[in-house]
Amino acid sequence: MGLRYQRRRLLPVTSTGYTRKRDYILDKRRNIAYVYRMKNDIEPANKGESEFDADDLSLISLAQEYSDEDKARELLERLRWPNGAICPHCKNDGKTKPNSKLTPKAGSKSAVRKGVYFCGACRKQFTVTVKTVFEGSHIPISKWLMAWFIVCSSKKSVSAHQLHRMLKITYKAAWFMAHRIRFAFGGDTEKLTGTVEVDETFVGGKGEAKTNFSRHVPVVALIERGGKMHTRVVSNVSQMNLGKCLAECVDKSAIVNTDNHDAYKPALKEYKRHDVVNHSKLEYHRINPDGSIATTNSAESFFSLLKRGVYGSWHHVSREHLPKYANEFAFRWSNSRMTDGARMAVGIPMVEGKRLMYRKPAN
Ligand SMILES: [Zn+2]
Repeated sequence: MGLRYQRRRLLPVTSTGYTRKRDYILDKRRNIAYVYRMKNDIEPANKGESEFDADDLSLISLAQEYSDEDKARELLERLRWPNGAICPHCKNDGKTKPNSKLTPKAGSKSAVRKGVYFCGACRKQFTVTVKTVFEGSHIPISKWLMAWFIVCSSKKSVSAHQLHRMLKITYKAAWFMAHRIRFAFGGDTEKLTGTVEVDETFVGGKGEAKTNFSRHVPVVALIERGGKMHTRVVSNVSQMNLGKCLAECVDKSAIVNTDNHDAYKPALKEYKRHDVVNHSKLEYHRINPDGSIATTNSAESFFSLLKRGVYGSWHHVSREHLPKYANEFAFRWSNSRMTDGARMAVGIPMVEGKRLMYRKPAN
């Protein structure tokens, strides 16, 4: 008996406007008129209009609602201090000794700079940009926010030339801005637990075989499976360097998966378990007797993404700045399961206490 093809019937429409199973209009086999409401049309019932939600942030909302410098500063304050202003000098959160916003007194001729707060504890003045990567920048905050959104949402990153064209700032400013954002993503010291995949790759090194060796730079990725990750740029893949990376980033209770590189073995004796995937015997994925999976495929995926950034967006990265480029990809990887706006809201508080300057200040 031959195969019988049954024509699929359209399912009945429910009260929410969807068919029971295939609820997306392009999944339908036949072209039908647009009679169903698409998912984005439906507003959640409990969403107040005035309530701020970082998920709603997009380039459009930044351009339409936050292009004004005062509103952009308010948004930056809201993202950096979700629970009220915190003094960068003494860390006063304003709960017992409130931080007040300075406003000019009635009849006073002296101007008060916008966005200046007065700390109730140490009595010093501060703004939202003090002791952050934004400090001392002449670029408007509205452009900074756009740059943050672009960097947080571009999966294969963005070049400084593209930022320079998109934001109408000089190339030099765009390059430095992008590096300050990348710098803010670094410095996370939380140790990884559970199952951690560790692998290394070489970035750069275009040229003759002799020069290639001196130019390519090893990058180590340490990824908690299903969680966050760290990267480290090392001078060479030695036992000492890998041991240092593991000690800095991975908790001793973790099960560590690596390839069959011998340099991992001594350092990993102190850890709960070391699962080796033998790449030289073409083993890339193994199911252990206890049901756990040994693989470094997440690390390979990360390297694939990082190299898309090098080949496709940056074209060249120097050894000196590579840690910052790797930080950027690690940040997006660690915060991948969220909207672009929410990722920006996670990234902006990381500016706390970080400044990147062309040279060290004299005093
Ligand atoms: Zn203070």
